[in-house]
Amino acid sequence: MMDTTTQVLVIGGGPAGSTTATLLAREGFQVTLVEREVFPRYHIGESLLVALNHIFEVLGVREKLEAHGFQKKTGAFFEWGAERWLFDWGKLPGEHRSSFQVKRSEFDHILLEHAKSQGVQVHEGVTVRGLHFDGDRPVRASWQAAGGAAGEIAFDFVVDASGRSGIMANRYLHSRRHNEAFQNIAVWSYYRGVQHPDVGLTGPILVGSVPQGWTWTIPLHDGTTSVGLVVHEKYFQERRKTASVEEIFTEGVSRSRLASEAIAPAERVSEIRVEGDYSYLSEVLAGPGYFLAGDSAAFLDPLLSSGVHLATYSGMLAAASISSILRGEILPEDAATFYATCYREHYLRWMLIVSTFYDQNSGKETYFWEAQRLSTGDINAADAKLAFTHVVAGIEDLKEAGQTDLLAEVSARMRENLSHNVAEGGDGAAPTPFSDLLREEDLRCLPTAVGYRVVTEPRLGIARVSGSVAEPALAAV
Ligand SMILES: Cc1cc2nc3c(=O)[nH]c(=O)nc-3n(C[C@H](O)[C@H](O)[C@H](O)COP(=O)(O)OP(=O)(O)OC[C@H]3O[C@@H](n4cnc5c(N)ncnc54)[C@H](O)[C@@H]3O)c2cc1C
Repeated sequence: MMDTTTQVLVIGGGPAGSTTATLLAREGFQVTLVEREVFPRYHIGESLLVALNHIFEVLGVREKLEAHGFQKKTGAFFEWGAERWLFDWGKLPGEHRSSFQVKRSEFDHILLEHAKSQGVQVHEGVTVRGLHFDGDRPVRASWQAAGGAAGEIAFDFVVDASGRSGIMANRYLHSRRHNEAFQNIAVWSYYRGVQHPDVGLTGPILVGSVPQGWTWTIPLHDGTTSVGLVVHEKYFQERRKTASVEEIFTEGVSRSRLASEAIAPAERVSEIRVEGDYSYLSEVLAGPGYFLAGDSAAFLDPLLSSGVHLATYSGMLAAASISSILRGEILPEDAATFYATCYREHYLRWMLIVSTFYDQNSGKETYFWEAQRLSTGDINAADAKLAFTHVVAGIEDLKEAGQTDLLAEVSARMRENLSHNVAEGGDGAAPTPFSDLLREEDLRCLPTAVGYRVVTEPRLGIARVSGSVAEPALAAV
């Protein structure tokens, strides 16, 4: 039976929701999480970044994940136009040099069970039907269980982690803005008996460009392999007039040397799935009494497998923000500004990198590659500069540049960094700033422009940054 009040309501039990809920419960707050499905449930998004290790540690779930036996992943291999890029995490400094390729049904289930073990009241098979507001502050949610029971729950804070359904952004804030670039469709399936090429990595994701887009190949621990194709929506719709989804998929995959050679001896063992993977960002990420985390707030083209990272990262930011507000360490509006700034910067940084990747392909003659360009509608120069402040040294010099120049310059610098990672001959190149970025160890979120940063010790929260030293935020409420 669901309580009628809670301190924090989390909507959705994916990585964003379970991360937020677990961290808040570990800080001693009363947390209720409502999840529409009964876990384990299917989800796409199987290749994880190395940065997630830090969040797993903060969550206290790392050992459980290690023990489960997921496929270890030590990097990525890209056959990208004429280029070959090897992202070898084994060469990274620091203690974390691998992550996992996961079956999301099992991974998400572990995270949700972990949330329960940390004191979160989890209700599966329960859908949030609507929110009720006091002015612009959400204060109550109506829910309905699969069995028909229904009720309301009042809360002090709500975290919308409802994924792409995005209750707050879609239904109440009307704040979701789609990028003009990255309007893609993903088509994928699962194979058994795949012959994984030896690229010098353990369990890598293989990404291969094709004239109409790109393919992924992800080995999973149950012996199956996830194989996917990403194409532009317009190509997909046009091709659909004369071809089945299966034909589009088979034809696309056959054009990738990496994917087609790998699946040549294999058998397809599941149906073919299709999903639009348009990129978007909500203009509002936090407000009075609410935070949007994970896909409910923003979605980015899956090229660099950043989704679960962004989901858990934003979950951690939301938990830190709410913890500090509830402890009276920061003004709610300052926390909301901090959250939105951090999240937006982090997202845009990834978006620029993805865009730069698309820019690299030598087969740019097709509509797909043309269409993956950022346009003025997608990002403005100020945001671009902010996004890269902590990534590409010297970006400050670009202050005077107009947007086009700025993006071109960012592209050029990314290209320089990428060229150090060319796999030819496995030359053992030293880690570059770019691979540092993929490592994403900056859990602390650096945007000092807003004067705060996240701390995980001695408690999770937000601290003021003064000079280079972080001090506990002043009690200001
Ligand atoms: C084709 C494709 C490939 C991808 N590949 C990768 C990859 O390789 N690596 C990667 O990291 N990411 C990848 N992603 C992205 C990744 O899937 C998402 O970013 C990630 O799942 C976001 O987590 P989340 O917790 O925000 O949302 P979700 O995991 O979607 O969880 C949201 C939850 O909310 C629940 N919910 C929704 N509405 C309600 C409601 N009204 N009431 C109660 N519960 C509700 C849903 O049932 C769901 O369980 C990919 C995405 C796509 C489309």
